[in-house]
Amino acid sequence: EALRGVSSWMEMDRRYVWHGMVTHQAAKNPLAIVAGEGAYVVDLDGRRYLDGMAGLWCVNLGYSQPKLAEAAYAQLNTMPYYPLTHTHLPAIQLAERLNEWLGAEYRVFFSNSGSEANEVAFKIARQYHAQRGEAHRWKILSRYRAYHGNTMGALAASGQFDRKYRYEPLAPGFVHVPPPDCYRCPFGRTPSSCRLECAHHIDDVMRWEMDETVAAMVLEPVITGGGVLVPPEGYLKAAEEICHRHGALLIVDEVICGFGRTGAPFGHQRLGVKPDIVTMAKGITSGYLPLAATAVRKDLYDAAFARDDDEHAHLRHVNTFGGHPAACAVALATLDIMESEHLVDRARDLGDALARELERLRGLPAVGDVRSFGFLAGVELVEDRDAKTPATAAFASQVVAECRKRGVIVGKTGDTTPGGHNVITLCPPFVVSEEEVRHMVDVLGDALDALM
Ligand code: PMP
Repeated sequence: EALRGVSSWMEMDRRYVWHGMVTHQAAKNPLAIVAGEGAYVVDLDGRRYLDGMAGLWCVNLGYSQPKLAEAAYAQLNTMPYYPLTHTHLPAIQLAERLNEWLGAEYRVFFSNSGSEANEVAFKIARQYHAQRGEAHRWKILSRYRAYHGNTMGALAASGQFDRKYRYEPLAPGFVHVPPPDCYRCPFGRTPSSCRLECAHHIDDVMRWEMDETVAAMVLEPVITGGGVLVPPEGYLKAAEEICHRHGALLIVDEVICGFGRTGAPFGHQRLGVKPDIVTMAKGITSGYLPLAATAVRKDLYDAAFARDDDEHAHLRHVNTFGGHPAACAVALATLDIMESEHLVDRARDLGDALARELERLRGLPAVGDVRSFGFLAGVELVEDRDAKTPATAAFASQVVAECRKRGVIVGKTGDTTPGGHNVITLCPPFVVSEEEVRHMVDVLGDALDALM
């Protein structure tokens, strides 16, 4: 196979493979990755890249973990498949381990993707209220700029309108509030004059929408895909208090922020909240196999779903591959490695190092803001630092390309109006060294210098 020339593979790719979101990624000029080693990937030409994005925010353990491959192989040889309409041991073990990671008792429903985990969360929230005689509670609140998935409900919850255009109408009942954006505060505040207006606004929206129509609010601890928007201190706790005061559930989307990325097992733990529902995917298997989970607090489950007297009181959602035994086995092996190698602590230390290194970029003319939370960072590019004029998405794409030329993969996201991608993102695997963190930032600095 390797004898086929590079150009013919790419020609076949252009002919047969349909890549989504070409405006987001370099899909017009994709890398053909053929191998991975640690935090590095290798393309068809044999070029090595330091992967500053862990694939798509997921390969937290890097690309060469034989224990993950062995776990999948062993499981496929013992019991390759059985559906979770019945049960199997890898799912039972994983649900129990997730309870340990969550630090509280949750019921876990397994599915295949972050999008589906969120769809399930929305169904559970609506059904929870309906079971309790409040079927009129069906709206879901979320933030502009946040991404929660690509299916008709998860996309409706997403506040990224460039992804929705020409696919509407989506699922009804989704209401957006402004994001916590401390660099371009939608309420005209600065960090020193901030009174958490973005959180208190949720309270207003609850009233304006009539709170008795609201089932839940869904939030990521940090808005990742919409530009790495780190909320002001106290924001998530305030949102939790507001949701509960209005009788709505709090769903926390940990698809990116979970499994150590923020320097805590889950991002919500770092921010001191106790979600009613937690959704997870991506890092749960370190990206090695598809798996997702929706965890519901036990008391909510008991209050609405654990009832024999009501034939409708069960979750009417099942799928063929959700909680696939091989994926659960890989997830268990992922958690084993995370624990035995203390990778949550390591992610926190690497995050501190990344934040320190990124400070060096603050003086550059194209850099408007630098934000990080745990081992996750965004660098917002501007044309004019005083006026905060956003850099164009074309400029950000050039930065991504310059980094790639220098052997480092970085991501790009941002304000999600069309053409509004001006934030360079970093979300590296936890297996990089501090030296490699420094190198990524050096390369980003060189790329910016080369373009100015
Ligand atoms: N939620 C968040 C926060 C995400 O970043 C993503 C994917 N980038 C999703 C949900 C959807 O996950 P998936 O792509 O697995 O459907």
